[in-house]
Parts: sequence; C-alpha cells; structure tokens
Amino acid sequence: MEKRPFAELGLSAEILKAVDKLGYEEASPIQTAVIPHGLAGRDVVGQSATGSGKTAAFAIPAIEKVDVKVRAVQVLVLCPTRELAVQVAEEFGKLAFFKKGLLEVPIYGGQSYERQFRALHAGAQVVIGTPGRVMDHMERGTLKFDALRIVVLDEADRMLDMGFRDDIEHILKAVPPARQLFFFSATMPRAIQELIKRYSRDPAWVKIEAHAQNAPQVEQVYYEVDRRSKIELLTRVIDLHDFRHGIVFCSTKIMVDELDEHLHARGYSVDRLHGDLTQMQRNRVMEKFKRHGFEFLIATDVAARGLDVDDLEVVFNYDLPNDAEDYTHRIGRTGRAGKKGRAVTFVSDREIYKLQNMVHYAKLKIRRERAPSLGEVEEARENVFLEKLQATLAEKKFKSHDAMIDRLLDQGYASTDIASALIHLLQSAETGPIPKPVPAAKVQHVVPHAPIRPVQVPAPVSFAGGTAPRPTAARGESRPPVECKEHKPAKRTYERKPRTGREEGFTTVVFNIGREHLVTPADLVGKIAGVTRLPANIVGAIDIHETHTDVDVATEHATLVMQKLSGIRIKNQSMKPALAPATAR
Ligand code: ADP
Ligand code: MG
Repeated sequence: MEKRPFAELGLSAEILKAVDKLGYEEASPIQTAVIPHGLAGRDVVGQSATGSGKTAAFAIPAIEKVDVKVRAVQVLVLCPTRELAVQVAEEFGKLAFFKKGLLEVPIYGGQSYERQFRALHAGAQVVIGTPGRVMDHMERGTLKFDALRIVVLDEADRMLDMGFRDDIEHILKAVPPARQLFFFSATMPRAIQELIKRYSRDPAWVKIEAHAQNAPQVEQVYYEVDRRSKIELLTRVIDLHDFRHGIVFCSTKIMVDELDEHLHARGYSVDRLHGDLTQMQRNRVMEKFKRHGFEFLIATDVAARGLDVDDLEVVFNYDLPNDAEDYTHRIGRTGRAGKKGRAVTFVSDREIYKLQNMVHYAKLKIRRERAPSLGEVEEARENVFLEKLQATLAEKKFKSHDAMIDRLLDQGYASTDIASALIHLLQSAETGPIPKPVPAAKVQHVVPHAPIRPVQVPAPVSFAGGTAPRPTAARGESRPPVECKEHKPAKRTYERKPRTGREEGFTTVVFNIGREHLVTPADLVGKIAGVTRLPANIVGAIDIHETHTDVDVATEHATLVMQKLSGIRIKNQSMKPALAPATAR
C-alpha cells in the first residue's frame, strides 16, 4: 500500500503545520487511504496492525470537520480503556494544535464527573471516552449529541472482547442518523462485521495487509523447541542478544503466572499482565513498563492489546498465537518508528503445522533459527564484557591503582597474568553463570551469610523435539535447575555482614526512603540489582531509619548505583541517593 505526503491529501494549513511539528514525514498507508474518504464524508472501516497510525487516520479528518464556532460535541470517539482515551485525546490535542478554538476532552471512569462536566460545559467539540462513562453522561444529560457529526470506534475488536457490545449499540442508537461512522480495528471478527452492517452506510473498506508494513522492520525467527525447554531457551535468547525491553506472550493466564514466577526466580526483571488483575494493578504495570521500570512484560493477548509501547526490542511468542492476525498484532509492537525489532516465536511439537499455515496465509517472512548453545551465550556475554572493558579503557573512566599493581609486579607477576586474574575474579564473582540480578524476594533469605546463588545442578537440555530429561520446575519450587557445568557457585568478593561500622570496600549511600514508607531490605536490594544489573552481592549492610536508609554499596559501584537509582521510584518515592556525610569526599 502506498504512502503519500500529507500535502497531497487535501488538508488545511493548520493540520499540515501540526503533522510537520510532530515530525511525521508522510502519511502512513492507513492514513493515506482513510483520510480522503473521511474528508469526503463517507463512513470508513479501517483495519491495520497495531502501530500503523490509525489514531491520526481518524483524528485528522475529524478535526477538519469540526466547526470551532459551534460549542457543542461534534466528534465522539469510543475507546476500550481510559489509557487509550487519554492517549487519543493527546493525539487530538497535538494534531489540532494550530486549530484555535478546538477543545477535546477525555472522559472515563475513575475521574470526577465534576471535572468532565466542566469541560463538556465549556463547549468541547471532541469527546473521547470509554463506553460506560459516555453512557453515564448521556443519562445525566451532560452529554448531548444534537451537533454530532462523527462517531469513531477505536479498537473495536477490543471493546467487544471487553464486553462493551451492548453499550456501544446503545450509544449508536442514540446518535443522530446523519453522522459519519468510523470503525477502526486491528482485526475484524464477525461480531464487528455485524455492527458495521447494522450501523454504517456504504462504508469505504480499507485494509492494510499486515506483512506489507511489518516485514521490513521486524526480523522474524522461530525456534522448534521441546515444550519443557522453553524457559531455558527463552533465557538463552535474551542473554544472547542482551535484550532489555520486550513482551513475552503466553496463551493463558496460568502460563503467564508460571513464567513470571520462573523468570523472577532466575533473576530477570519481569512483571505480568492478564485479565485477573484489577484495572488499577494493570495500569500500574503498564505505566511501569512504559518507563522501563522492568525489562520484560509477560502477558496474554487480550491484556496487552491497546498497550501503546513502540520501542520494544523484541516480542516473544512464548506460546504460538491463535492465528496470523494475533501474530501480526503481537509483533506490531516492535520495529516501530523505523527502529529494527525482533519477533521470536517458539514452536513445540505439532504446532509447526499451525505455524506453516500462518506463514502461508499471511505471507509471513519468518525464518528458522537454531537454539543457541550455552557456549554461544557465554561467548556473547564475554563480548559484552569486552566491550565494556574497552569503553572503560578508552574513556579512562577508572581510578588508577598503580601502587597495588606495582606491588604485584614487584612480586614477579606478569601484567598479563594480573589482568587475567582480575577478569577471572570479576567474572566468577560478578557475572556468575547467569548475569542477572538475584530477585528481591530471594535475597531476603540469604542475607547475611549464605551464598547468593544456590548450588546449581547441571542439567542437560535438549531442543527441537529431543527427549529432555529435565522437567519444568513445579510452581512454588524454589528455583529451577540451571545448567552451569563450567561454573562453581560464584565465589563472593563481598561478604554481607551485620553492620559494624563501615566495612572495607563499601561506601554508604543514603536513600531518601525509610520505615515510614514501609521499605524492606529486599525492596532496595531488588531495585538496585534490577536497575544496575549488577549482582545483588554488591550491596552490603542495610540500615533502615525512619525517613532514610543507609545502604552499603561496593565502593567501585557506588557512583553507578547513585546515578542509576536517581529518579527511580521505590514504594512510590522518587529516589535521590547521596553519599553518607562520613564517606562523602
Ligand atoms: P495504531 O492506533 O494503529 O496502533 P497509533 O495511532 O497509536 O497506531 O500510532 C503509532 C505511533 O506512530 C504513534 O507513536 C504515532 O505518533 C506514530 N505515527 C502516526 N502516524 C505517523 C506518521 N505518519 N509518521 C510517523 N509516525 C506516525
Ligand atoms: Mg490505536
């Protein structure tokens, strides 16, 4: 599908200035196709993948149609969630930036009626709301449709999934018959087609094929993997590519919970999203994910729909999606905005036939990849280490330790041996078999003297239909076995001892959070390890006071810890770490 410059679409100078200000270089395919129909007054059905620019596709013609002299609702956009309502309202605000006198208002449950009522009363012409709250306002008489010209159903598929069908019909029946109706959806299940048939008149159907827009940006691979080895493979692929920001899709809530637990236990920074969580919990998780408060979101399709993130490095199909549409929907969250993304799909047993069907039907460009061996993962990790070392050397970001090195040289050691020994110490102490921070919950149990990592049982793993003898760890089991033949449990360079004044090698960092915030040592260790990706044992003694906490941090990492934790929220407190007065230089 073609793309065209916005200037060729017959738009006003105000809109052209706004898209230019937003940095949109040209209209996306769905925008190119939809905008002229919208301007011509037709009903439109628009179908394209997540991230393809559907919001502006309906917002631009809607804004063009608003008569700012009329202080009454002219455009109504229905969205499935309050986050979306807010996002869409923001986009309207940006696109209408130069159209003076246009007022848009998001209305959704949970916000006071009073505030929404004031905006409506002030003459908002564009209302963006969730169906429930829109109906409430209709009943109260605070939302009137006499001047309504355009109704938009955004993410129609999701609204139906969420059970809004009756509400939507109720609203559609209440709007004036002479209005334009826009349906937008990433998928077109039968229920939506029925709604379209019933309520729209001769709509222009615009469908942008998913592969046309996704293929160039998203590198798609699949692995054939024994069901029981999926977790192992997942962690290897994450480590191999050093991914830091992605979604892992599972087919069921139970799977989401299980995987969340297992990855947590292995020290990955993860959280989960599924339909059993309250809306408030979901909001919190989504918001945290968006600001990179953790690395991997584990989610079901339904829970993750409409989650507007566009900078994912990777999408994992831990379980194969149901069909090609879901597949496209999922992977549309990576490779956006010109950045290259990666979609990784796991296929077990007979699922390969299902995948082949999808490839055929949706013309997916997905290539088979071989599961990385442990050796390859190690090598990749070594490369990362090497790069860090080179960067440190190049930027001279280190204090010189000439006296110590001179002593060793005097004792007859070669400088190459000294360097090798240091790397050995660093790697065994800091990276260990898997270079992930130990989760907070586990850390609590091992403070102060047990080794951070448990003795790990070597366990062979086989991929691609092999007969893996290693069973998936049962729920609640303390920790799944991890292969680590070459490694002994990490010898710790820093012992965690009860606090008896400052320990050697540690620097005390003061955090502005304390007992009154109900903070626990595990919160702090978990956050420090999670954010810095350093092992938890760089943290020594922790003294929690009423309003602040003294945390001993291995001196060489103290600056990094302060930098990285600054501005990070713990227990909803924004951290402002500082050196303790006694240790401040
Ligand atoms: P969808 O609703 O199809 O999932 P969105 O409307 O949320 O997609 O748009 C996804 C992202 O693409 C947003 O960050 C948006 O600002 C951006 N975007 C939209 N149109 C364009 C365009 N023409 N050029 C560049 N970026 C765009
Ligand atoms: Mg959208």
